Amino acid sequence: MNAVNLLEFDLDGLTAFCEQLGEKRFRATQLFRWIHQKGAADFSQMSDLAKSLRDKLAAVAHIKPLAIASEQASTDGTIKWLFDVGGGDAVETVFIPEDDRGTLCVSSQAGCAVGCRFCSTGHQGFSRNLTTGEIVAQLWFAEHHLRRRLNLAEGERAITNVVMMGMGEPLQNYAALVPALKVMLDDHGYGLSRRRVTVSTSGMTRMIDRLREDCPVALAVSLHAPNDALRDDLVPLNRKHPIADLLQTCNRYLEAAPRDFITFEYCMLDGVNDSPEQAKELVELVRGNISCKFNLIPFNPFPASGLKRSPRERVTAFAHVLQDAGIVTTVRKTRGDDIDAACGQLAGEVQDRTRVKQRISTRAPIQIHRSAAHAGSVQKKQETKA
Ligand code: SF4
Repeated sequence: MNAVNLLEFDLDGLTAFCEQLGEKRFRATQLFRWIHQKGAADFSQMSDLAKSLRDKLAAVAHIKPLAIASEQASTDGTIKWLFDVGGGDAVETVFIPEDDRGTLCVSSQAGCAVGCRFCSTGHQGFSRNLTTGEIVAQLWFAEHHLRRRLNLAEGERAITNVVMMGMGEPLQNYAALVPALKVMLDDHGYGLSRRRVTVSTSGMTRMIDRLREDCPVALAVSLHAPNDALRDDLVPLNRKHPIADLLQTCNRYLEAAPRDFITFEYCMLDGVNDSPEQAKELVELVRGNISCKFNLIPFNPFPASGLKRSPRERVTAFAHVLQDAGIVTTVRKTRGDDIDAACGQLAGEVQDRTRVKQRISTRAPIQIHRSAAHAGSVQKKQETKA
C-alpha cells in the first residue's frame, strides 16, 4: 500500500483520515500541530501521541517534503528554492524578507497555461497542477527551515505572509488550492490571517466567485491594461473574462473579502501599456467603479518576450496620474533580481505537456497602443523583433 502524505490534508481531511484509523478527532488536531506548528516529519518525535498510534501512522502514512534541487540567496536577503516535483518538472518558491514581515511566494502549478506575454512562467508552457501537499510543502519547508536558519525563538514566525504568486494560475488549480489555503489559515496550522494570505489571479471570474464562497482571502488581480483590446493581447484569458465582468466580479468579492480593496497588479511594459494616456484611461476605468489600489511592477525582461522594462521616469509619471486621481498606487521594489527571483521571472523547469509553449511562440507580435509621440521608438522595437 502506498503511504499517504499527510501534507495533502487540511484539518478536516486529517480528521477524516484519523477516524478511518479508528482514532478520535482530537488526535488529528494534535497530529496537525506537530506537522505544521513544530515541523515534525517523524512520527517518533510526536511525544504526546500514544505509541500505538505512532506505529499505526508509520505503517500507513508519511510527511513527504519536496526534494530541493537548488537554493539561491540574493544579496538583498531574498532566497529562491527550486523544488523537484518529479517527471522532469521543478517549481520555484521565493522568500522575501522585509523589516516587518517575511513573505513567501508560493507556486501552484508546474508551468502555466494562461500564457501572459510578459511572464517567464507562461512562456515555459504547462505540465501539471501541483497537489495540495506540494503547495503546502513549500510553506512547511520554508517556515521550519528558516526558523532554524534564522535562529528564531520559540513561537516566532519566519513566514508572516503568503502570496500565491509563484508559478501558475492558482484558480486553475482550485481543488488543490482551497485545502492548502485552509492549512495556512488554520490556528492549529500556520495561523495566518486572511489579510496576509493573497491569491493572485489573472482574472478567472467564475473561480473568483467560488473563492469568495469557499475561502475569501486577500485578492490580487493581474490587470496590466486599461482596455480589452490591449488586455486580450497581454493576458489571453481576457477574451473569456473581459474587464467589465472582471470588475463586477471583484465588487462581489469585496463583500466577503478580508480587505476593503482589490489590488490590481500592473506590469509596466515600455511603449505598450505605460503612457500617461493609458494611466488616465485606467483612472476612468476604476474611479467610482471599484475600491482598489494599484501595484505597478517593473517588468523583468527575458529574451523570448520581446518586451522591455519601462524607464523609471515613465513609471513615476504613470503612478502620479493614478495618485493625483486619489488612487493608492505603489511601485513594487524589485527583489532578488540577481537570482532571477523577481516577479515574472520564475521559470523552474517544466515539461510542456499541453503545447502552450508552441501556441505562445507562434502568436503575432504584440499590438502597440500608444500615443503618436512615441511612434518612432515603437517602429524601432518592431524592427528589432523581426
Ligand atoms: S502571469 Fe500568472 S497567469 Fe499569467 S502566465 Fe504567468 S503565471 Fe500564468
